[in-house]
Amino acid sequence: MDSSQLYSLAEQYYLPVYSPRRAILDHGKGSRVWDRDGKEYIDFAAGIAVNGLGHAHPALIKALTDQAAKMWHTSNVFVSEPPLKLAQKIVETSGFATKVFFCNSGAEANEAAIKIARRYASMQGRSADQRVILTFENSFHGRTLATVTAGGQAKYRESFEPLPPGFRYATFNDLESARAAFADGAVCAVLVEPVQGEGGVTAASKEFLEGLRALCDANDALLMLDEVQCGMGRTGTLYAWQQYDLQPDVVTIAKALGAGMPIGAMLVGPKVADTMSVGTHGTTFGGNLLSTAVAYEALNLLDSDEIRENVTKQAQAIHDGLEAINNDLKCFSEYRGRGLMMGAVLTDDYAPRMTEILDRCMEKGLLALQAGPTVLRFLPPLNINDDDVAEGLQRLRESLSQ
Ligand SMILES: *Cc1c(COP(=O)(O)O)cnc(C)c1O
Repeated sequence: MDSSQLYSLAEQYYLPVYSPRRAILDHGKGSRVWDRDGKEYIDFAAGIAVNGLGHAHPALIKALTDQAAKMWHTSNVFVSEPPLKLAQKIVETSGFATKVFFCNSGAEANEAAIKIARRYASMQGRSADQRVILTFENSFHGRTLATVTAGGQAKYRESFEPLPPGFRYATFNDLESARAAFADGAVCAVLVEPVQGEGGVTAASKEFLEGLRALCDANDALLMLDEVQCGMGRTGTLYAWQQYDLQPDVVTIAKALGAGMPIGAMLVGPKVADTMSVGTHGTTFGGNLLSTAVAYEALNLLDSDEIRENVTKQAQAIHDGLEAINNDLKCFSEYRGRGLMMGAVLTDDYAPRMTEILDRCMEKGLLALQAGPTVLRFLPPLNINDDDVAEGLQRLRESLSQ
């Protein structure tokens, strides 16, 4: 089938919730991908922060194919080795967690967090209306009904009412607004991204995130961090919260955990390790053997000095490259994010042309993303090399030039 046939089949058969770009990607190697016509792209998007180790990594292919030849799925009716090895490794590298729950996506990991928070609150003797979860404006926590409600972006909730009750919003990076939300004693947990992704690539200030920890402690509430996008080494530490002086109660991860295999996880610390008991939660696919075999190998690779050093080095190179482009074109008003989770805010001149700029990036051979209306978002693989960064920046420059 040729490409135009595939586009029309997509229109015919898919529920029209996406507007996909006009390229049909076919294969990849490292931080480069090729479409069906053989055109090459530098990957500054990594499948929305999923392909943390790029494409076709030999060790991941081996992990997947070795497991594929043995067994694919058993369900949680049985204990299996691949998910157990992964759980142990996650706990050992987490810096706080004692237990893990596996699921299949970021939204599901956050659903599990919401459930554990409500149950913890119920075990504290809080009535249902005292089990409010505090989240923040511009946050993104997934697309299930509870997680769109948790997310601080009305556009994802509108027309899906009635929404589940028990969520409340404050302003990100504004500790006073969070303090006000706690005032009536109804908040039992805070769910927050240490670095907001979809909402605009904004890092929480130290004062804010550490202040939330103190507010949670003072109110016997849980601090739950959504690291679905910013976790797994993306910001230069395995978890973004490790750059703050605090310990979380719950952390959710997904995206890069499986390096391209679908998997999510909720990590919990000692405070809530005994909150759930047999039968209180579950999933059919969670802990799938293929996903966990790959994720185990990916975690071994991601939790390394090599990756940490490369993230720091390439983040600096991209930052310098963006500044050099900006010196000539005056296209950016601000740089945001942390490590290889980067945002460049377009100036008022450039922002109205966001869609055109992203189309030009495709034309010039660069995969990039958007976050909010004005932010170009870059999420390259964490093992991207010098040449691919330099080439990607050159293509970005060409895309932004008239
Ligand atoms: C992508 C994302 C989610 C949702 O993950 P899905 O796998 O799409 O369900 C949740 N939280 C954050 C911060 C994300 O970036």
